[in-house]
Amino acid sequence: MSSTTSVANPEELREVTEATEAAEAAVDAITSSANKEAAFSMALSQDQKDIRDWVHGFAADVMRPAAHEWDEKEQTPWPIIQEAAKIGLYGFEGLAQFFADPTGLTLPIVNEELFWGDAGMGMAIMGTSLAVAAIFGQGTGEQIGEWIPRCFGTPEDVKVAAFCSSEPNAGSDVSAIRTTAKFDEASGEWVLNGQKAWATNGGISDVHVIIASVDRELGARGHAAFVVPMSEAKGISQGAKVSKHGLRASHTADVYLDDCRIPAGYVLGGKEKLDERLARAKEGKKNKSNASMATFEASRPTVGAQALGIARAAYEYALDYAKEREQFGKKIVENQAIAFTLARMKLEIDASRLLVWRASWMGRNQVPFENAEGSMSKLKAGEVAVWVTERAIQILGGNGYTREFPVERFHRDAKIYDIFEGTAEIQQMVIARAISGMHIR
Ligand SMILES: Cc1cc2nc3c(=O)[nH]c(=O)nc-3n(C[C@H](O)[C@H](O)[C@H](O)COP(=O)(O)OP(=O)(O)OC[C@H]3O[C@@H](n4cnc5c(N)ncnc54)[C@H](O)[C@@H]3O)c2cc1C
Repeated sequence: MSSTTSVANPEELREVTEATEAAEAAVDAITSSANKEAAFSMALSQDQKDIRDWVHGFAADVMRPAAHEWDEKEQTPWPIIQEAAKIGLYGFEGLAQFFADPTGLTLPIVNEELFWGDAGMGMAIMGTSLAVAAIFGQGTGEQIGEWIPRCFGTPEDVKVAAFCSSEPNAGSDVSAIRTTAKFDEASGEWVLNGQKAWATNGGISDVHVIIASVDRELGARGHAAFVVPMSEAKGISQGAKVSKHGLRASHTADVYLDDCRIPAGYVLGGKEKLDERLARAKEGKKNKSNASMATFEASRPTVGAQALGIARAAYEYALDYAKEREQFGKKIVENQAIAFTLARMKLEIDASRLLVWRASWMGRNQVPFENAEGSMSKLKAGEVAVWVTERAIQILGGNGYTREFPVERFHRDAKIYDIFEGTAEIQQMVIARAISGMHIR
């Protein structure tokens, strides 16, 4: 445990120690499974099928019946997150188990099923994982053990976490980040100032991972990731909550940092490593990747799987509807125009899943994304989700356009997959650069 952890009483100390030990065990499981290279196969193991069916059951029985209500309320569905925590679906041990699968397929399977249930609630459950991915990818072993359990809390006292990279003037262009982190030698603290925009779970989380510029002259190479716990740090506050087109059960808000002071050890990877990285950058030497991009690269296939879940929900609903609805004395599915549309919907969904599973397998088995396969999977799945959900509205006709039927919600939810974690244009730019080796702008 870090010396920076503040512990109030022995009971709290025991809980923190147990959580830390469990997190360390989970990290060990992931690390040891990383050495077992898995061949790519679409044949799911019994374990994977069991997890898929278990998550599907939760999505069908708990999420779906509540989806419309939480979309209308536009609030974080805390009772649903708590239900997920109680059964082990929300929490670091669950996430570590999904992630530890050496085939890489369990994580996209879980995401597809959850987002099939409902995307807004799915994001309320999975939004924390972006902060977790940043801590896991960039933190020291000690930081992972300390902060990841705190991202989730406990089933009795669930918490969420936020990853804050975007700013009002730095969305696609992360190098434009203006939030600064300056080290105050006198107090041995970091001082953060700036405004973060559109942060999922921003302001309602305890753990916020903040991307800030330590050295402006270095652009994105001068960025670092900091853990800012709202329960400890002064000077971090929630700004305006965003009212959205879709994913309305997921909280999105601005986050302000106003002379926000945190201990030296709260920079992910540690200050010593950061200083070395900055020195290398100043000498013009290459570092692996910057703090935001490393998190986004790792999460793209998982985000693609979420889009896939929404697309599949819309396709299944439209197929059932078309087999029931009669016009001109026959089922509307008997018209080729409808049946061929459904055939293409299924085809596009399956094609997206192949790309998502390939990228997930590559990511898990450390096969380099030479042709930006992670971006390909997210781009394709996002576009397919938007197209399939729009076609589903068309197949339901007037009913599809009303809030009495879920497909209009599916469509509103799907659109964000063309935008966040790299817009469709940015994904194409990443792919174009990878295949050409040229600096396409
Ligand atoms: C619901 C929601 C949740 C979010 N959650 C988070 C979060 O948790 N954490 C976080 O950090 N951020 C989050 N975001 C922010 C999100 O990642 C950004 O909105 C996204 O990166 C796009 O940035 P932007 O909105 O500033 O668009 P801009 O970058 O301004 O882009 C506007 C348009 O210009 C295009 N464009 C920009 N540059 C180029 C170029 N070079 N070539 C071609 N076209 C270009 C874009 O593709 C887009 O179509 C969230 C956003 C939303 C809406």
